[in-house]
Amino acid sequence: MLNFKNMSFEELLKPDGYDCPCGRHHATAVKFLKIGRGVIETVPEALKTLGVSYPFVVCDQNTYRAAGERVVEILKRAGIPYALYVFDGAHPVMPSERELGILAMRFNHSCDVVLGVGSGVINDLCKMLGFTANRPCAIVGTAPSMDGYASNSSAMELEGVKLTIYNNGPEAVICDTEIMAQAPMRMLRAGFGDMIAKYISICEWRIAHLITGEYYCEAVADMMRAAVAKIMASVDGILARDPDAVGAVAEGLVLSGLAMAYSNVSRPASGIEHRFSHIWEMINIARGRSLELHGIQVGIGSMLTFELYEYIRKIKPDLQHARDVIAAFDPAAWDAKINRVFGAVAGDVFASVKKSRQNEADVRLAHAETICAHWDEILDIIHAEMPDIRVMYAAAQKLGMPVRPCEIDVSTSDTMDALVCSHDIRERYICTSMLFDLGLLEEAAEFFRGLLD
Ligand SMILES: [Zn+2]
Ligand SMILES: [Zn+2]
Repeated sequence: MLNFKNMSFEELLKPDGYDCPCGRHHATAVKFLKIGRGVIETVPEALKTLGVSYPFVVCDQNTYRAAGERVVEILKRAGIPYALYVFDGAHPVMPSERELGILAMRFNHSCDVVLGVGSGVINDLCKMLGFTANRPCAIVGTAPSMDGYASNSSAMELEGVKLTIYNNGPEAVICDTEIMAQAPMRMLRAGFGDMIAKYISICEWRIAHLITGEYYCEAVADMMRAAVAKIMASVDGILARDPDAVGAVAEGLVLSGLAMAYSNVSRPASGIEHRFSHIWEMINIARGRSLELHGIQVGIGSMLTFELYEYIRKIKPDLQHARDVIAAFDPAAWDAKINRVFGAVAGDVFASVKKSRQNEADVRLAHAETICAHWDEILDIIHAEMPDIRVMYAAAQKLGMPVRPCEIDVSTSDTMDALVCSHDIRERYICTSMLFDLGLLEEAAEFFRGLLD
């Protein structure tokens, strides 16, 4: 097995990548990556590595103060010409067509690289701008708040609908941990929330591999395990804003993006906990409401999922029960549920489920048979991958992380909808797919409701 977890960044970024026994070739488009104290000074070196010389620097008001000003000074000192656009602060900066339109119209076409200074939203917008303007993109991160720094997609909103748009990803990522350590505490919590999700994503990736035969790479999974372990060991340091502890989070987040690029799927970084966040956002965007940071939502989704897996450990799958529930499936009631929860975007869910055939009796029954035949192995996977839930609550409490949806103003009914629709919105097999195929989703939902009140 390739030992990614012990490789340096330089080795991980090897331009010709790695042929892996999993059957895939693992490589990333990232050419320059620095995480550490004072590494903001490497911006000129990063531009040189990318073969570019005239950056279009993008910031918002906060990130300009946090790091943009320094970036501009460094460029001036190095004699590198640049153009600068700072969002004016009159509107919240969203990852939507409005902001991407502003950037497209403000873009200086003499520039040969987009240099984003910021975290989630600026990162998503700059990857999109680089992609549409056909320029490489480089990022100076200001907060360890989400795992998109090294990923080749942007979470965008278009005409009020949340969607993932694939692009080229950044070619350079610079995370100065002295700057990141000064980010607002809720952004540090968000990064932690997005990282504890990786326990679940790896567990569900393995379970899916066992049940559906989906592609899985142990070397990539192991890289993520090592990254999460490092973060769990850094809780006190995060609280004290120690740059090295914050650096462990930043490293984990960047490695998650790398793991997704390596495996060409989001599996190493996202499981059911991300579906909670996704559905909460879909529902709330349609109502014109915006929610807490992605990583905070995912952290709450993760805590709920740890509880759900405690429940799953205790169930006893019964094939005859599964057969009975599958035979009694009511497609009209399911259609009505999807229409009620997803409204204008229900059509996408119908199309995806039709294509995957995941509601069809033969598909569900085949899954149920596999699950029952391999239940002990599934329990072993859960046992091996899931953390001690008491340790997770203790860490969340120390950091002041919200652990329940009501703490970020998400209702019990929206969360119940998110649970029972979590397996509908994507084909990728997760724990609720397994409960659905076993005919146990309604019982699990009863247990789940008890967590929310
Ligand atoms: Zn592999
Ligand atoms: Zn995430």
